[in-house]
Amino acid sequence: MEKYKRMLVEKGIKPTFQRIKILEYLEKHHNHPTVDMIYSALYKKVPTLSKTTVYNTLGVLSKHGLVSVLSTLDSEAHYEYNFNSHHHFICKVCHRIIDIDVPCTFRQYVEELGHKVEEVHGNFVGICKDCMEKQYE
Ligand SMILES: [Zn+2]
Ligand SMILES: [Zn+2]
Repeated sequence: MEKYKRMLVEKGIKPTFQRIKILEYLEKHHNHPTVDMIYSALYKKVPTLSKTTVYNTLGVLSKHGLVSVLSTLDSEAHYEYNFNSHHHFICKVCHRIIDIDVPCTFRQYVEELGHKVEEVHGNFVGICKDCMEKQYE
């Protein structure tokens, strides 16, 4: 709890219990959740929680650079804690978002142009390994 409280305070965000729980969830689960997924996972532990609070908290956290909003194939936004910059593989069949940990070689190029990079979003879109295997069964 203390760790997340400190992270919020450092960014100048008021560390409410709900915000701490949402940040903790995102830091511990690298499953690229939507608002609904976070709400379902937390509403029992945080009885005062509402979907609006989850949505608003994610807005505050992303504004301060603690979480990223992912661009995916879904209409619903997916979020993740900014633990490092990585790319994503998005499966067109099952819509799974898989982390791909490759260093972004273009980041340096963009910074050499004089721009300050705060987030890197790279998507590879295709058919994941599991869906490929199912196709040929
Ligand atoms: Zn798939
Ligand atoms: Zn990710």
